[in-house]
Amino acid sequence: MTYAITQTCCSDATCVSVCPVNCIHPTPEEPDFGRTEMLYIDPKSCIDCGACADACPVEAVFPVDSLPASQQEYGPLNAAYFADRQAEQTSAGPNFHAWGEPSFTRSLPSDFAPLRVAVVGTGPAGMYAAEDLLLHTSAEVTLIDRLPVAGGLIRYGVAPDHLSTKRAGDTFARFHTHPRVRMHLGVEVGRDISAEEISAHHDAVIYAVGASAGRRLGIPGEDLAGSICATTFVSWYNAHPEVAPDAVDVSTERVVVVGTGNVALDAARILVSDPDALAAGDIAGHALDALRAGSVREVVLLGRRGPEDAAYTRSELLALTHLDGVDLVVDDHDPRTGAAVDAAGPDDRAGLLKGVARETVDWSGPAPAGRRIVFRFHSAPLEALGDVAVGGVRVTDGTGDGTDGREIPAGLLLRAVGQRGVPVPGLPFDEASGTVPHEGGRVTGRPGTYVVGWIKRGPTGGIGANRTCAAETVGTLLDDAVGGTLTAPEQGAKAFQRLVRRRNRRAVDARGLAEIERTELALGRRDGRPRVKLATVPELVAAARGGRRRIPG
Ligand code: NAP
Repeated sequence: MTYAITQTCCSDATCVSVCPVNCIHPTPEEPDFGRTEMLYIDPKSCIDCGACADACPVEAVFPVDSLPASQQEYGPLNAAYFADRQAEQTSAGPNFHAWGEPSFTRSLPSDFAPLRVAVVGTGPAGMYAAEDLLLHTSAEVTLIDRLPVAGGLIRYGVAPDHLSTKRAGDTFARFHTHPRVRMHLGVEVGRDISAEEISAHHDAVIYAVGASAGRRLGIPGEDLAGSICATTFVSWYNAHPEVAPDAVDVSTERVVVVGTGNVALDAARILVSDPDALAAGDIAGHALDALRAGSVREVVLLGRRGPEDAAYTRSELLALTHLDGVDLVVDDHDPRTGAAVDAAGPDDRAGLLKGVARETVDWSGPAPAGRRIVFRFHSAPLEALGDVAVGGVRVTDGTGDGTDGREIPAGLLLRAVGQRGVPVPGLPFDEASGTVPHEGGRVTGRPGTYVVGWIKRGPTGGIGANRTCAAETVGTLLDDAVGGTLTAPEQGAKAFQRLVRRRNRRAVDARGLAEIERTELALGRRDGRPRVKLATVPELVAAARGGRRRIPG
């Protein structure tokens, strides 16, 4: 029996560092690292020790023999990665499993003084940076977040039915109570505190603020009621306090989602999943109620290019094929779609749709009985139709010149066309890329200020991609510290704490965060759910102060 890596792989390579026989690839030292959608275990070398399964932060590693039906593909998938590589190797080529020379990319002087570093943003990028500093240096870390609860995209981005992926949050939570960590949640840079003030109290500041704005389509009707950004939809089902419980109306049978990325697939899956199955996750109570009462039976995913250029990952597409009671269909309206799928090899993106039903969908009528997700490739949105609210979407039919189109009746239009960073007050910003300009993580022209995650490299890559990104930024910061280019803080940690309290009396610390956690878990136990998320700032702050310790029965 060997182990295999499965759907939720976050590629952060924690498993690679614990494998005693170097059988998990690509490793961070190999050229493929960061280019494959996941990591793979070589069944020929695996010694079945299970160390990788114990270390995996997202519960993605299982013995091949005990894979559930929905994950059976992952045994052969892991093996195929190595079969392909071994076929490529020649006798002159590198041995795939050879251990490389040990490399130590960082060396700190023995008298390296402890640094005080602020990390703004408590999502995966910020927490990988904090973890790196805490594990490898004696730095003190101040964690700051504009929301009164930590987690960033783990709490508000990862889909509520992906509980294993959310487990990565447990790994980060270990550092919330670290003796060298101070936490100020509910504190916003530019509102409660300025970038200059944070810098004045720390040797260095790392901004890990993500890319919170949804990109726009620029089509007529985009601002009609019922046309919303997928980030709003994701925030809605994840109980984000800045999105109202009634922000999404799901009283429509058909929803059009623009884009074929993983966010589009998450949205489609949540919309057509059985609400009873969703209740087993941590979906917002208001979203669960709305979906139970709602009418969505069909979701159309629009890809402006062909299936060979679809943006989803294999694992997320595979998950759709296993969705209980939901059919997956490819609209055969354009001959290029079927041709690309038929001609695709096993490693080609279009080949992922080989087993999926194809039909030329008649959009003039209502959605057929049952629930289904339809991929419509070679079809871009031209206009959202309706007077006040969306009643349909006019889309290119793939054969025209873009001025003509076909109408798809739908009551909800979701734009899942990627995200964009927003400027941080006090930091430079590149409007074209929506990122903060930097060199190796050091903000251009701002010594002592750094960026990590999507605000640094743009909105691509899953959770684990932030680990190497954080390692680069922390490496640059430590080089600067050793090189003497950081300015020592003018005032101490206590002075910073006093300043924060003066500016925002509702700021939440680590103890308050633990109270929120206890409250949400207790509410979950009461309702027979893993957790009931508090969905407003007042509720979160009240819980942090112990105000909800007595849970109503
Ligand atoms: P994405 O992967 O960049 O996908 C964006 C989609 O929007 C693409 O299909 C793109 O098509 C399309 N698009 C862009 N502009 C368009 C326009 N004007 N008209 C029509 N279509 C347009 O973005 P995302 O889905 O937001 O995901 C962001 C990152 O988060 C990705 O790396 C993703 O893998 C990751 N993520 C991962 C998970 C997971 O692992 N479960 C979940 C969520 C997000 P073109 O390719 O033609 O531009």
